[in-house]
Amino acid sequence: MKVAKFGGTSVASAEQIRKVASVITDDPERKVIVVSAPGKRNDEDTKVTDLLIKLGETYLSEGSADAELAAVVDRYEQIAKGLELSSEIIDTIESDLKERLAADTSNEGKFMDAIKASGEDNNAKLIAFYLESKGIEAQYVNPRDAGLLVSDEPGNAQVLPEAYENLFKLRERPGVLVFPGFFGYSPEGTLVTFPRGGSDITGSIVAAGIKADLYENFTDVDSVYAANPKVVDGPVEIKRLTYREMRELSYAGFSVFHDEALIPAFRNSIPVCIKNTNNPQARGTMIIAEREYMLNPVIGIASDDGFSTIYVRKYLMNREVGFGRRLLEIIEDEGISYEHIPSGIDDTSVILRQDQLTDEAEHRIINRINDELEVDDVYIEKDFAMIMIVGEGMHNTKGISARATTALARADVNIEMINQGSSEVSLVFGVHEKDADNAVRELYDEFFGEADESLQ
Ligand code: ASP
Repeated sequence: MKVAKFGGTSVASAEQIRKVASVITDDPERKVIVVSAPGKRNDEDTKVTDLLIKLGETYLSEGSADAELAAVVDRYEQIAKGLELSSEIIDTIESDLKERLAADTSNEGKFMDAIKASGEDNNAKLIAFYLESKGIEAQYVNPRDAGLLVSDEPGNAQVLPEAYENLFKLRERPGVLVFPGFFGYSPEGTLVTFPRGGSDITGSIVAAGIKADLYENFTDVDSVYAANPKVVDGPVEIKRLTYREMRELSYAGFSVFHDEALIPAFRNSIPVCIKNTNNPQARGTMIIAEREYMLNPVIGIASDDGFSTIYVRKYLMNREVGFGRRLLEIIEDEGISYEHIPSGIDDTSVILRQDQLTDEAEHRIINRINDELEVDDVYIEKDFAMIMIVGEGMHNTKGISARATTALARADVNIEMINQGSSEVSLVFGVHEKDADNAVRELYDEFFGEADESLQ
């Protein structure tokens, strides 16, 4: 039994949904289909989830949002027309949206989650309706009925352990099951969404729940590539990589698979295959527990922007018991999570995602560090990129850092931070954002310059 998840671009139009239907009928093992909301049809297009966020926000601030509602309904209408479906399904979708808008708005997080989740929910209904119209035995599954239980944190749901047992029962239902991605229900019955891009997470949870043999994640590229194809010309395709490698690459900007989606599959040893809806014959990339890494210890190079660093210096910091804890407590009090803490004997840097830092939070943090920790110096620097070199084989191979730093010197890139050691599968370099693309290109040349298919 397989779970196949189809991302936003795979279900963005009638033409795409036709491809999905043929992928489903090609393999009777594809039992559960997890779908996203309709995504972008081209670069200028807007995802339905973004249209829905605008709809919810306008409704909250102005008390009505007719144009925004019409924009959402219009997307489904175009799809339904293209699939030659009766208008019944559009009436269902429109009244569903109106019902969600008419709900209690006192808890804005809860209200917005219900609006956002309608993107996947209505798309799942529409796709099930279409499959049935084509004579395929199919049914829409409501995540509440299926028992996809999650914690009650709007926009940041975490699956609850009992969900897996509930989902196992899906195996008994007949036909193809069309399951909406991106949300579940709290034990009290409140709809809660996962973080953005969370349909991958639903797919992984459902795959773990039904104990699938394979979790297929259909997107719009043939495979995961060793570097971002927008930065590096024609990077090699990765054929096999481990959960840990994928986790590190997704963390640093490989958006092809959500980093939180790996855990359920990994814990239940379900292999994940990234495949292309537009080219389903391509073999894709397999994510598995172990792989051989005989020839190239590095599997990929990723880079992500938008990091800040809080630099702190204090003479004899290394001997001050509790310094690190007190520093991190100040950051914790702002509700901010950190990413890395490279440290020396008298100084340390706390690296965090910049979008968490407001001007006020910055001032409070600097003042508290000065007052409470009596440091010699503290300042915040912005606009860093983290470049990650990832590969299971690296910790057993000599000379990787030397090759990487030499490549960065060749690219004339100054290294602001290096973090090796804690992770066995990655080496992290902090550089200024403006240097990131050059750095990735030179590193790619260093580790994959001679690459041929046999390296992977
Ligand atoms: N539609 C949601 C989003 O755009 C979830 C997903 O597509 O995975 O974030």
